[in-house]
Amino acid sequence: MSNFFYRNLKKNYPVIAKAQGAWVWDKSGNKYLDASSGAIVANIGHGVDAVREAVNDQMNEAAFAHTSQFVSEAGLHLAERLVRLSGLQEGRVYFTSGGSESVETALKMARAYFVEKGEHSRKLCIGRLPSYHGSSFGALSVTGHPARRRPYLPLLDSSLTFNRGQWQFANTPYPYRCRCGAKGVCASDACGKAYAAELETLIAENGAENVMAFIGEPVVGASMGALPPHESYWREVRSILDKHGVLLIADEVMTGLGRVGEKMGLDLWGIKADIIALGKGLSAGYLPLGAVVASSAIVKAFEDGSGVFEHGFTYSGHPVACAAGVAVLDYVERNRLIEAVAKKESRFFQGFRNLSAYEIVGDIRGRGFLAGIELVANRTTKEPFPADVRISQVLAREALAFGLMVYPGGGFLPDGKGDHIMIAPPFTIADDELEEMFKRLNMALGSVSQTLMTIG
Ligand code: PLP
Repeated sequence: MSNFFYRNLKKNYPVIAKAQGAWVWDKSGNKYLDASSGAIVANIGHGVDAVREAVNDQMNEAAFAHTSQFVSEAGLHLAERLVRLSGLQEGRVYFTSGGSESVETALKMARAYFVEKGEHSRKLCIGRLPSYHGSSFGALSVTGHPARRRPYLPLLDSSLTFNRGQWQFANTPYPYRCRCGAKGVCASDACGKAYAAELETLIAENGAENVMAFIGEPVVGASMGALPPHESYWREVRSILDKHGVLLIADEVMTGLGRVGEKMGLDLWGIKADIIALGKGLSAGYLPLGAVVASSAIVKAFEDGSGVFEHGFTYSGHPVACAAGVAVLDYVERNRLIEAVAKKESRFFQGFRNLSAYEIVGDIRGRGFLAGIELVANRTTKEPFPADVRISQVLAREALAFGLMVYPGGGFLPDGKGDHIMIAPPFTIADDELEEMFKRLNMALGSVSQTLMTIG
């Protein structure tokens, strides 16, 4: 009997003993290759000395300062670095302790911006279906994932169904199951534009004067398994939002800071957001840290107005977390890891080629070092597995038995079906470790496929 409130109280979790590079050990002596960087977090790998030293130094200097009383040099420095990386010149950074807090902050910042400008009617936010933006109430309200919302529906303001009240949802572009019914994976520009046009319809239906923001993950992460949109989509979205004066919030919690081979995910399409939510790889798991980068136009509204963003967390801008963030960015830059991900992307995806021989592998997708495998019961018809089979969990368990950590997800289709796993190793993973990763993944897929064949 343990007093730990496990994620699943019916499951046993190994106790972690050690983590180094791309490897993790548990207290029972098992060793795992971390092919998912935990939950797409440990971008620079585990156990980097330079981060530990920076954290120790900051601990020795001053562990805590509340942002109503002090700022830290680490916070000031990290803000400058993030503005530079995001390309939002003259912007400013609001620190948080993780992705959900970043999304909450971004949503409230968008609303507060319009209040500062006197545009009080702008309060609606458009999200996407499916999507994942976090566990807190604001982030969950704009999350398009029925299973994650279901128990809390009565508590989610105006959200008993999708598209009610101030949280509206447009469909997420889904090239594998495109609205045009393409047999394979749709690459049509017209389809990308058609998905973007849904957004414009929603803006028109609600009145642009009532809409404050649109939020999306540049490449969809946890809900759909590393799903990039059609090439034309994001540029079209940006121009629609500009036309109607609606803010673009990029949820780059998973995609930001190198994961997709660019500084920011939207850089893949050469466009900029107005507000960027960051987390995960920012501190690469060394300490809890998130950030929101606001463009200069957003900042100016506050500077010209009240000067105050009515918001705040006790641990916002925590000096030690910021010191970890600076050390992680230093490590990424010193070792040119974003460039390395971009350079290795095509070789990385080639590694999946053999896996497409398995009947349960429906689609392999992603960008940079963020890959997803959609699992299907029938490859020709794209029929998903019944939800209660929980095939992504079955595969993740099997992978773990082969000493491989992957990140499973499911329930993204309207009927609650849909399964995927994500493969997103640390940027620092060595070539021979990558080879080992594909070998173990192959074994796990082979074993699950064999079992499925046996039970018919
Ligand atoms: N946004 C995205 C795109 C995410 O992938 C996640 C977490 O998976 C979050 C927000 C929430 O982040 P956190 O779990 O750090 O609160």
